[in-house]
Amino acid sequence: VLFDAVGTLLRPVPCVAEVYADVGRRFGCELSETEIARRFAAAFAAQEQIDRRWLGGRTSEPRERDRWRRIVGRVFGRPAALEPIFAALWEHFGRAQSWQLDPAAGPLWQELSARGLQLGLASNFDSRLLAICSGKPVLADCRRVFVSSLVGWKKPSVEFFRAIERELTLPATQIMLVGDDLDNDYRAALHAGWRALLLDPRGRWPQLDTIASLGQAAVRLG
Ligand SMILES: [Mg+2]
Repeated sequence: VLFDAVGTLLRPVPCVAEVYADVGRRFGCELSETEIARRFAAAFAAQEQIDRRWLGGRTSEPRERDRWRRIVGRVFGRPAALEPIFAALWEHFGRAQSWQLDPAAGPLWQELSARGLQLGLASNFDSRLLAICSGKPVLADCRRVFVSSLVGWKKPSVEFFRAIERELTLPATQIMLVGDDLDNDYRAALHAGWRALLLDPRGRWPQLDTIASLGQAAVRLG
């Protein structure tokens, strides 16, 4: 059973807009959190489009760094201080303390491990996720952390899933992905022949195989 990272196991605390606003202010870029959130969503979506349409789902460590530099640049309107702002944000979101682990993750991890399931992460994050996991006691011993920048492909590309199958030497039907993204996690996993569970806290997809909270995963996997 593999879990998506951001939005499923981990969330940034303080939130992205608050951190961007603080860091921007330090370098003379005053923007409201509302405006940052709006620009961030647009910039993030634009980079997702580039990944899908131009790069065909391929990625790498340099591409991830470049992607985030472009997102930061677009949020702040290409400021003179782009490099220091970007560096501060890159470092912030690479620290374990910047991310809160869902409180249900600990008990869930214990219970599923006790049932003999192999657990891991399958994320579109970059190699910073390895350091973040090391800083979270629940995840620190996890040896199966798959990040797209190191796999070379990102979700929803089927190649991302195939690479993990090879690494785990398991057939697609014996792997499940639990994630909060309808396309990148749920649909992509099913398309690859995996099982899938969608974390859907707002109940937007009642017709799909969903859980309202991470804590429900243990029952559903029973
Ligand atoms: Mg997610």
